[in-house]
Amino acid sequence: MAAAVVRKPLMRIPYTEPFAAPRIIPRHATTPSAAIAALGNFLTAPPPSGLPSSTVVLTGAGLSVASGLADYRGDNGTYRINKTYRPIYFHEFVASHEARKRYWARSFVGWTTLHKAKPNASHYALRDLGRLGYVQSIITQNVDSFHRIAHPDHTSTVELHGYLRSAVCTTCHGEVPRDDFQAELARLNPIWAEFLYEAIEAGAYESENPTTGAPGTSSDAPPSLKFVRGIKSNPDGDVDLPDAPYSTFRYPPCPHCLANPLKAEDGTQLHVEVDSDGAWKMPSHTSSTDSAAKTKHPGILKPAVVMFGESISPAVKHAAEGAIDQAGRLLVLATSLATYSAWRLATRAKDRGMPIGIVNMGGVRGEDVFFAGIDPDESDGKAVRVEMATDAVLPPLVEELQKQSSSVSHGGDRTLSAGRVNPALFKDMLS
Ligand SMILES: [Zn+2]
Repeated sequence: MAAAVVRKPLMRIPYTEPFAAPRIIPRHATTPSAAIAALGNFLTAPPPSGLPSSTVVLTGAGLSVASGLADYRGDNGTYRINKTYRPIYFHEFVASHEARKRYWARSFVGWTTLHKAKPNASHYALRDLGRLGYVQSIITQNVDSFHRIAHPDHTSTVELHGYLRSAVCTTCHGEVPRDDFQAELARLNPIWAEFLYEAIEAGAYESENPTTGAPGTSSDAPPSLKFVRGIKSNPDGDVDLPDAPYSTFRYPPCPHCLANPLKAEDGTQLHVEVDSDGAWKMPSHTSSTDSAAKTKHPGILKPAVVMFGESISPAVKHAAEGAIDQAGRLLVLATSLATYSAWRLATRAKDRGMPIGIVNMGGVRGEDVFFAGIDPDESDGKAVRVEMATDAVLPPLVEELQKQSSSVSHGGDRTLSAGRVNPALFKDMLS
């Protein structure tokens, strides 16, 4: 039977080649004070006619570097991940018990780094820009939940690529908090849990240099894990553990599907099988070579992130597009827009005639197009391009905007709002 196939863009491996060095806009915005003034001018300039004065922010991995999380790219824009690193694809994860063991083992060890990490000054500066009325919404590619932690109430956040704080069931789509899931992984894998505990005790997670720091060397630890020297997490929260004994790793099933098995389309019950400790088990009536059955194993939990080869849910896609469509300008922070989904949103903003600002170390995909027709000497708030770390410019930008707002509104209404700032104040700072 032939059904119409709707093609959805799938998450792909990002560009790995360096992008061209940026053209700084305005040209002299190469010092922190000039960059801050240019950003203030950008946020307070009158929007093009027909567009609202609000700003939508699009953030990426660079924003969380100051929280101790890895970036995909180094300062000069080159791809930092080991060339041999190959992330898992969605279809592999769903189809292969072995692939899931390997993924969850690495994620089990990597979760500690993410769990310890906290939002940094950039996240809190964005909270303040929201409170002051300059930023209406945030779209993030980051899966670390830092935006929601830093500004849970004020500024809406679309998590374009999902989040690591939950695992989600591929059958019933119910979610399990990652902390609960982590506790289950520890219960089902006591030797790994002991290794992890000893690695933390030995300070392996404190080490900046992967060749220093010593993990525990318990005689019970999996042999190959004894050689891990310092643990570096990838941006998605897992770690590289070459040759670790993944095959014995166990993971739990979806508790909802275990308790209340769903029915398949043909009416049969989708029973989840578990071992005597409650770990997910390959259904006994299928063989691992049964390709038809492979994709139907019920009760499989996956991280609630968009994996490579998986598509962004329509609801999230629409929310992100809506955030662009309801704003009058776009500020891109700490991302090279290497992923298609993020680059496409910036392109959507450009197509709507929205002024675009970018703060990023290293070049950004397609930025020459975003800034086409912009004279770096006459940008006048219509564009800004700064090559600095966000935590160096956003907190002082907030301070400056607070100062300008209170000087404009002094003696009157104390409410701060973007519309009350006199753009000329920033022009003075630029000269
Ligand atoms: Zn389920």
